[in-house]
Amino acid sequence: MPESQRITRPPVVTILGHVDHGKTSLLDRIRHANVAAGEVGGITQAIGAYQIEYKGKKITFIDTPGHAAFSAMRARGGQAADVAVLIVAADDSVMPQTRESIDHIHKAGIPFVVAMNKVDLPGANPEKIKADLANSGVYVENYGGNVPMAQISAKTGQGIEDLLEIILLLAELEELQDNSQETPATAVVIESSLHSQKGPLATLLVKKGTFQKNDNLYDGLNDYGKIRSMIDYSGALIENASPSTPFQVIGLNKVPNVGDIITSTAGTASAVSSDSVVVRLTDEDRPKIILKADVQGSLEAVLASIKDDAEVLFASVGMVTDTDIQNAQSSNAEIIGFNSKISSSVAKLAEVEHVKFTNFKIIYQLFDYLKDLNVKLSETKAPKYTETGQAKVVKVFNFHGTIIYGCVCISGKIHKGDLISGSTISSLKVGKDDVEEVKKDQEFGLLASPVIDLKVGDIIITQSLESKI
Ligand code: GDP
Repeated sequence: MPESQRITRPPVVTILGHVDHGKTSLLDRIRHANVAAGEVGGITQAIGAYQIEYKGKKITFIDTPGHAAFSAMRARGGQAADVAVLIVAADDSVMPQTRESIDHIHKAGIPFVVAMNKVDLPGANPEKIKADLANSGVYVENYGGNVPMAQISAKTGQGIEDLLEIILLLAELEELQDNSQETPATAVVIESSLHSQKGPLATLLVKKGTFQKNDNLYDGLNDYGKIRSMIDYSGALIENASPSTPFQVIGLNKVPNVGDIITSTAGTASAVSSDSVVVRLTDEDRPKIILKADVQGSLEAVLASIKDDAEVLFASVGMVTDTDIQNAQSSNAEIIGFNSKISSSVAKLAEVEHVKFTNFKIIYQLFDYLKDLNVKLSETKAPKYTETGQAKVVKVFNFHGTIIYGCVCISGKIHKGDLISGSTISSLKVGKDDVEEVKKDQEFGLLASPVIDLKVGDIIITQSLESKI
C-alpha cells in the first residue's frame, strides 16, 4: 500500500525516569509548544494525558503517575504505551529509578529513546551518561548500541524537535495499524478517582475501536455503566474517541483500577482478547516474584537457574525498598530474597500492603520454595475436568446450516453446558423437548458451540468443568 494511503493510529508515549530528572518539565514543554493555546481549556491539562500534532502526525503522551502504575498496567494486561522515553538528567546520570525504568521498559518490550535532559547546565556530561547507561545494559547509538538518544533541555526547548522526530520514527517502525473499526471498542484505564459530585471518574485510553457517547461499558461480562460524557485532554466535550485518544469518562458505576480493560460490549476475556490480555493469561500460569540479592553475582546465578519456575518482574541488588513493596503490591507478586535484608519500616509497609517477603540463605531452598509456589498456583488455577458421560453419534442433521447431531447416550449422564473437546453443548433435545440432561440409552439431539465436526459412528466423551477457584 502506498505510504500516503496507509492509515496508522497515533503512537502512545510515556516518559519514565528518576525523580527530578525533568519528566514533568518535558511533558509541559512538549504540550506548550504543540497544543494550540486557543483550544478549550487552553493549556490547562484536564487529564493525565494529552495529544499533540507534530508535522501533521498525532502523538499521545500519557503521564503514567509513577512506576507502580506502569507496572500495574502491564500486570493487568493493559499495556498502554507503544514507545517510552527514558529521561536522564545530564548532571545527575543514571540513578536507582532510572534503572527501575529500564527494567520496566524491557519488561514491557516496547521501543524507547533516551532523552538526556538538562544539557543546558554547565555540569552536563554526556559521555558519562552514555557510559553509565551502558553499565545498566542500555547501549545508545555511537556507544556500542542502537538505542537512539536525544540531547535536550526541557528548560530551553533545545533538542525537543529531535526527540519528537525520533519518537515518530520509532512509532513508524512499530507499524501501528488503524484499528478504529474493530469491535468491541477497548480501552485501558490510565487514571481513576471518585469525585464528590460527578461520581466515579476515569481516564481511558482507547486501544482499539471507537467509543461513542451513550455507549454501554463493560469489564468483561460485568456492567460498568454508560458513557454519559466524554471529555478530552483540553477539557472539551467530545462525542467519540478513536484509538490512542485519551478521554475522561463520566457515567461509570464504580471506580476502576488503573490498568483495567473496559469494553463497549460485554464479552468474556477471550472476546476482549488483545495481545496483551493473552499475555496476561499466560503470565498467570506462573508465580510472579520480585527478586532481591546481596550481590550482582548471586542475583545473576539465581536468575539463570529460575527458568520457568517463576516470572521475575524485577531483579535487583540490595535491601528491599518501598518501591519493591509497591511493585509487588500492584503486580500481585511476592518478594524473594537471597541473602537480602529488609528494614523494619519497609517490613511494616509490606505488612500493611499484604506483600510477602521470604529470604533464603541456601539456594536450593529458594528453588524448592518456587517449585512449591508453582504447585500451589496450578492447584488453584488449573480447571478440573471430569467425565460425565459418553454418547455415540447415530445421525447428522443439517437444518439450514445448523448442525444437529442425533446421538445415543451409552454411559453416564450428559448435561447441557457439558464440554466436548473444547465446545460447549448449547442445546439438548429429546424429541421436540429441550432437556437439561440425558441418561444412558436415551436418544437425543445435540447442538454444540462452536460447531464440532463429528461423523456417524463417532463416540463422544462429555466433560464438565469444575473450577476450584
Ligand atoms: P520530575 O520529577 O522528573 O517530573 O522533574 P521536574 O520536571 O519536576 O524537574 C525537576 C527540576 O529540574 C525542576 O526544578 C525543573 O525546573 C528542573 N529542570 C527540568 N528540566 C530542566 C532542564 O532542561 N534544564 C534545567 N536547567 N533544569 C531543568
